[in-house]
Amino acid sequence: MHRSTHDDLVILGGTFDPIHYGHLRAVEEVRQALGVTQVMLIPAGHPPHRQSPWADARHRLAMTRIAVAHHPQFTVSSWEVKREGPSYSVDTLTALRQQRPDAVLAMVIGMDAFLRFDTWHRWQHILDLTHLIVTGRPGWPAAELPEALRQALYQRRCEDVSTLRQTPAGRILFHTVTALEISATSIRSLLASHHSPRFLLPDEVLDYIDAEGLYHSP
Ligand code: ATP
Repeated sequence: MHRSTHDDLVILGGTFDPIHYGHLRAVEEVRQALGVTQVMLIPAGHPPHRQSPWADARHRLAMTRIAVAHHPQFTVSSWEVKREGPSYSVDTLTALRQQRPDAVLAMVIGMDAFLRFDTWHRWQHILDLTHLIVTGRPGWPAAELPEALRQALYQRRCEDVSTLRQTPAGRILFHTVTALEISATSIRSLLASHHSPRFLLPDEVLDYIDAEGLYHSP
């Protein structure tokens, strides 16, 4: 069966408060490993699992756009930011799937997020809409997973990217990426204590943060 691959998509959602090289490098490595052209970054509007982000959604959207402005393979979706109420990945993925019925969709999540994946709204259905690419280091402790997640892994785990590319959704792949111990929390702390986070995130994003006075303590 012939299928067009130009709709295939690697997806990364996050609060991006702010976006940094940990996010960008992880998703780029997954993109190359899967042989997919396009990446979509989706800043969350009102994250259901977290305390309110520190920067407004419009700033987080702007920073995400600035971070990839020179990289045409990357697009930024304003969908969750513009929607009222909580952002649920399942709703975003349902909409994306309607637009790209046959495409391979691969959503990237870090190991930290995967360990709590069974608390996500309609998480089982998410796995019918997209593949999940879990990024982390090798030798992670499968035994510590909640039982429901372990069962899902048993049914859906896939060991290599070529298998994953044969089906639009439904597989879970663990993929090792270059470990960059960067977090938005540490960048916010540096800024709050008047230290520079430069080289942890793109200069253009830092210029925006400075111009808008984000994350600085009063
Ligand atoms: P915070 O420190 O505010 O919790 P964060 O830096 O973890 O933020 P998020 O926006 O919450 O960033 O992360 C979005 C996604 O990116 C999550 O799936 C997370 O696991 C992943 N991620 C975050 N930081 C890294 C990193 N350094 N390397 C690889 N993946 C990352």
